Amino acid sequence: MADRVIAAHWSDADLAVLAGGVGVDGRRLPSSGWMALRRLGWGAVAPAGVVVSDRVRRIAEEEAARALRLACHRRAVVAALLASWPDDPFARTGEDWSALRARLPDGTDNATIRNRTRQIAGYMDVHGRLPADLCELEGQPVVSRQVSLAAADRQQVVVGRVDGRMVRVWSQLPVCAAPASYRDWVWHAFDLVLPAIVPTWAKVCSPTLRPRDGRVRVDLPWQTPHCPAPVDGHTRGLGVDWGVNTLLTAAVADLDQAGSVLVQGRPLRFDAAGVSAKLVRLRRHREHLHTKLDHLTRLRDGRPADAPADPALASKLVRLQAEHSAVCARIRHLNKALAWSSARWLVDHATAVGATVIYVENLATLEAGGRSRSLNRRLSGAVRGTVFTATAHLAAKVGTAVVTVPARGTSSGCPRCGGAVTHVKTPQGRAAGYRWATCSCGLSLDRDHAAAERIAARGLANQTKTRRDRNGNTTIRAATDTPVRRRARRPTPTATTKPVRERRKTEPTPKQTRPTGAKTSRLLPLRRQVPAPAEPPPGTAGKRPAGRTPQETNPSGPVCQVPHTASTTAQRHPHRVRGALLGRGFHRHVHATPVTDRGRRTGKHPPY
Ligand SMILES: [Zn+2]
Repeated sequence: MADRVIAAHWSDADLAVLAGGVGVDGRRLPSSGWMALRRLGWGAVAPAGVVVSDRVRRIAEEEAARALRLACHRRAVVAALLASWPDDPFARTGEDWSALRARLPDGTDNATIRNRTRQIAGYMDVHGRLPADLCELEGQPVVSRQVSLAAADRQQVVVGRVDGRMVRVWSQLPVCAAPASYRDWVWHAFDLVLPAIVPTWAKVCSPTLRPRDGRVRVDLPWQTPHCPAPVDGHTRGLGVDWGVNTLLTAAVADLDQAGSVLVQGRPLRFDAAGVSAKLVRLRRHREHLHTKLDHLTRLRDGRPADAPADPALASKLVRLQAEHSAVCARIRHLNKALAWSSARWLVDHATAVGATVIYVENLATLEAGGRSRSLNRRLSGAVRGTVFTATAHLAAKVGTAVVTVPARGTSSGCPRCGGAVTHVKTPQGRAAGYRWATCSCGLSLDRDHAAAERIAARGLANQTKTRRDRNGNTTIRAATDTPVRRRARRPTPTATTKPVRERRKTEPTPKQTRPTGAKTSRLLPLRRQVPAPAEPPPGTAGKRPAGRTPQETNPSGPVCQVPHTASTTAQRHPHRVRGALLGRGFHRHVHATPVTDRGRRTGKHPPY
């Protein structure tokens, strides 16, 4: 039914009416999609011989309205591009850009412009002329096979809690594919078990049903009261860079009374090089499987019609397909785990140092270009998007604002003087690539750390320009840079308490003895290198078992630490418990600055 509504109104004139937002009676169209379509007289009609209730028609109209409203935005972008189509669309001049920007809707990002330009150029290659409008450029949108019960009311769906963990959904559903009367519509009940992250007092809303592969998946939204964090008035913030070397690098910055930005110089790092390498290997494996699948499919389809099917080929195809989807699922899960654990780490750090705002680069303005293209592609944009969404979600729970700032020039400019930095090898020269930033003003810093400081300064100094859009995302569109100053180091206590003469050594250091009295030596290894099995398995007496020694299960480097006690962890962040289960395989490969809770004990603005 939704498909038919879209097909009937897939024309530039109808999209213009919907985008205009005014009904035939001159009143503003309601925000609710199905009501807007009915006001325009574009209601859905059931196929001949099928009886559906008014609520079911509403659900179809809602789906159609969402697809058409999304198309209205694309139509505006395409119209702007067509109206200012230059001679060479892939090398626009400054005038071309200003002519285009004047026509585009607000907030159109560069990626959209590039993709739509390519789409129009592709159309020109085929047809030899420009398309007239969006509806000529592309076909009508495909309606997703889902049932959004939220568009209906209690006559169609009732949602209620059975207990703290269980929700029962009552819904009128047909008992056959084409219900001929209302007798074919029957109330069905199905129980859903809520995951542990849903609090017992949260209000559950009408779900969306997604039937696929003989199963029905349920998207169940739930509501918790929430007041958005303030967008300005912050004095301590965290600047975060999407690192080249590390996944995230953060720097803490303060805004003082005079309006200048102070940093102390301790970077916070979330380094997931091990997991990223694993992801690269998995992606390569996926491509390999895909190529093989393609080849075998062509072999199977190319057989002559009279030849019998090859069972060996068919079974090989099935096996490869199963492996391909397993690898895809593994990549998906690893991306998700990486994104959420890094977001958790970031928000925990912000809370620990008393920062009330997190500034990140705007992903829409983050364009990979020039030499850094391969570096920026190392971590896919999808993971960054998930990190951002997860950070915004987790930060909202603790009342911390997440604000995006323009990405332009964050890593090419010096945070101290604003001049251009030079990227060189690290002072130790061990790591590959140009990971260090130096400047004529004396700056010498890890390039991600320098970028994080610049982002923090950009956000704190321009916080009065922060705007919240209708989706609740806060962003600073245009920003001016402020130089940061490094906070003076606090003198170490030993330097002030005793004069140098009194700290001189007057007697030999006493020998250290162990409580057991055993003789020790500096050469004693810190760990036993060979474990002593209590009972060696038969046939392997005296041999070291294969694999890691038990002592190595604890990573030696700095790892992500959770500052809470076990009992509060389970109550506050139930998904952390799941993270702890992941710990064996996942967190061993992540090196992150540990979160300490010094900040919480010593007040709002502690030294960090
Ligand atoms: Zn400088």
